[in-house]
Amino acid sequence: MPAASASALPAILDQIHTDAQALFGQGRVASYIPALAEVPPRQFGIAVALVDGSTFSVGDAHTSFSLQSITKLFAFVLALKSVGDELWQRVGREPSGAAFNSMVQLETEKGIPRNPFINAGALVITDILTTRYAHLDYALLGALRRLTDDPELSWNARIARSERDTAHRNMAMAYFMKSYGNFVNDPELVLDNYCRQCATEMSCAQLAQATMFLANNGRDLRRDGSPDEQFLAADDARRVNALMLTCGAYDAAGDFAYRIGLPVKTGVGGGIVAIAPGIGTVAVWAPELDAKGNSVLGAFALEQLVLRTGWNHGQA
Ligand code: GLU
Repeated sequence: MPAASASALPAILDQIHTDAQALFGQGRVASYIPALAEVPPRQFGIAVALVDGSTFSVGDAHTSFSLQSITKLFAFVLALKSVGDELWQRVGREPSGAAFNSMVQLETEKGIPRNPFINAGALVITDILTTRYAHLDYALLGALRRLTDDPELSWNARIARSERDTAHRNMAMAYFMKSYGNFVNDPELVLDNYCRQCATEMSCAQLAQATMFLANNGRDLRRDGSPDEQFLAADDARRVNALMLTCGAYDAAGDFAYRIGLPVKTGVGGGIVAIAPGIGTVAVWAPELDAKGNSVLGAFALEQLVLRTGWNHGQA
């Protein structure tokens, strides 16, 4: 990013933060997970982290929120790192065009979910990781603690319990996939792992840092003084970004690609993370969601940011 644009970022973020307030009340906080319904709706934060190490934030960027589906991104990366291309035998990489929790394609496609970012696909990824790691929740948490340099990072046990108690639809999908031979472990155990994973909490500032490797050719940026590491192979980082661009926003992936044009992953907690390859990462959070489960203010903020900075997915 040219220096002039970086210096303009604080004013751009302030303006977007102000303009977005007009959209409060247009969406609804997710309520199908009872504990999520209790989150105060009028919160909004933006954090930007650039590959040169500089960071910018505005609003509630340091408040932790429930990552929900954004954790599917990290679980998928962990699976890619641990089992590699083998995972594509069990999950596809095509946009679904259907809701995040839809089951309809599972029957016509014989228990193979369309992609790792819809619920069915994420359940298969968690199944793969459950086979690979005896204590999956801690394996995933370990990776996230490392990426954020925060040894305290954790999941919210109350939200995990609340989702687990009402996870009938996800459970049905797991058993359905098992009937096709595409589920190895006990669905009850995998659902325990999945609900803890989804209940992981992070702030926008942490999320922007945790995804830096995707903007930085697979290399993370350590803030604790230790050397940066190749967290993911550069080619795999490019592939993950492609999957985020095509499948990262459920059945609004096409609309997001048109309006925002950056690889994204959204979650029903109201967070969205976006990657500007070679430039940096952006994390936004506002709990009110549109009909497709994506943050209203978050999507507006990302659209405004790319309009004002010119960032796009092909930049390097
Ligand atoms: N834990 C949520 C579920 O499985 C995640 C959904 C989302 O964020 O899209 O329904």
